[in-house]
Amino acid sequence: MSHVIYKTIDSRPAWASGGSGAWLEDRDGRRYLDTCGGVGVSSLGHRHPRIAEAMERAARDLTWAHAGAFTTAPAEELAQTLAGRSGGLSHAQFLSGGSEAMELALKIAYQYHAERGDRGRQLVISRRQSYHGSTLAMLAISGNVQRRSVFEPLLGRAEFVSPCYEYRDRLPTESVEDYVDRLGAELEAKILEVGAENVAAFTAETVVGSTSGAVPAVPGYFRKVREICRRHGLLLVLDEVMAGLGRTGQHFAYLDDAVTPDIVAVGKGLAAGYAPISAVLVSPEIHEALGAGSGVLQNGQTNVNHSFACAVALEVQRTIHDEGLLDNVRTRGEQLRQSLVKRFSDSPAVGDVRGRGLFVGVELVRPDDGRTPLDGGGRLAAAIKREGLARGVLLYPGYGTVDGEAGNHVLFAPPFVSTPDDIDDMVTRLGEVLDVCLAEATH
Ligand code: PMP
Repeated sequence: MSHVIYKTIDSRPAWASGGSGAWLEDRDGRRYLDTCGGVGVSSLGHRHPRIAEAMERAARDLTWAHAGAFTTAPAEELAQTLAGRSGGLSHAQFLSGGSEAMELALKIAYQYHAERGDRGRQLVISRRQSYHGSTLAMLAISGNVQRRSVFEPLLGRAEFVSPCYEYRDRLPTESVEDYVDRLGAELEAKILEVGAENVAAFTAETVVGSTSGAVPAVPGYFRKVREICRRHGLLLVLDEVMAGLGRTGQHFAYLDDAVTPDIVAVGKGLAAGYAPISAVLVSPEIHEALGAGSGVLQNGQTNVNHSFACAVALEVQRTIHDEGLLDNVRTRGEQLRQSLVKRFSDSPAVGDVRGRGLFVGVELVRPDDGRTPLDGGGRLAAAIKREGLARGVLLYPGYGTVDGEAGNHVLFAPPFVSTPDDIDDMVTRLGEVLDVCLAEATH
C-alpha cells in the first residue's frame, strides 16, 4: 500500500526513475517521450548534466539564509539576469511556486495603490478562460471553471472580461483591428461599470496555457490593453508562469506583443523543474513607490529568495543563453506547428493549431463540420492521456477549452532541447493516439 496522496486517488501513476533530454523513464525501463515538460516545466529536459553539476556546487555553498536579514550572490545575480532580459522591469523577488508568485504580484499591486493613498482600488479585472493558481485568492481571479469547482463559495469577488481567442471569437466580418477595438471597448466598459477608482489591476496570461491550449493574443491586443490600463490608473499584471522564460522563443512572452507590464509573474521554466522556484518582477516606478511609502514589502515567506533554488535557476537561465536555446525553441516550434498541420490536414477533427515557439495548442472539433467544439469532456482527455502513456508518449490534454465545458485540446510544451527527430516522433505518436481516441469519441 502507498501512503502518498495521488492526484487520481485510486490509481497509482507511473513510477518515474530516470530520463534524458526529452525522454522520461519508469522503473521498469519503459520510456516516455515528453511533449509537455510535465506541465510546461522541463524546458532543459531531464537530467541535464550541466545543471546536476551546478546543483552539486550550490549544495556545498550556503543553501539558505533568511531573506529578512540576508541577501546572497545567487539571488542578486538571478534578479540582475532576469531584469536585464525583461525589457524594462527592474527588481525581482523569488518564491516557491507560480500561485505564490501571482499572489504576490497582486499583493504588490494593492500595496502600490495603498502607499500612494489610493486605497479604494481593491478590485481585479481578469479574463474568462484563465488560470492564475491554486490558492483561494488566485482561484478567485481565475476564469477556469473546473478548477474553481467546489471552492466557488470560498472565492472572493473578481470581475471578468472576454479572453482574446481569435479562432473562436473573431467574427468572420471583423478585421484583427476591429476585434482588438471590440475587446478594448469591453474592458473599458467593465472598468467604467465598476468605477476605475475601485480597480487595482487587470491581469491576463500573455499566452493562455492549460485552460484553452496555448492561445496567444492577436497583434495589437496587449498594446490596446496597456493603453487602457494606463489611462484609468490600473496596473497591468501579466501571468507568464507557463509562457515565460523562453517557452515562446522570447525570454518574456510579452516582448512579442510589444508591451512591458507593470508586474510579471514567472515560474515553471525558471529552474525548469530542477528546483521549486518562481519570481515576481516589478517596474522601477513600483519599486520606488514602495520605497518612498512605508518602505516595507508587506509579505514574508520562509523561502523567499532561497539561495540554493536561485543558484539552480541561474544556471538554467545561463544554459538557455549559452546553448542558444531560444533559437532552438523558434526553429523546433515552427517544425512542430508545420508538422501538426501537415499530419492533420486530412483530419477534420483538428480545427486549429496555434501558439508561439514551443508552446502549441491543438484544438479538437466535431469531424462532421470541422468547427463545432468537441464535447468529449474529461473522459476524452483522460483517454488521450492513457492511450499516450500506453504508446510511450506523455501528452497534456485538456477540456472545457471554449467556455469551461465545451471543447477539447492537447497542449504541447516540450523541452527546449528537443531534437528534430523528437518533434517528428511527437507528432507521429499524437496522430496514433488521436486516431484511436477520436474514433471512439465520435461514434
Ligand atoms: N499561472 C499559470 C498561467 C499557470 O499555468 C500555473 C500552473 N499551471 C500557475 C499560475 C500556478 O503555478 P503553480 O502550479 O506553480 O503554483
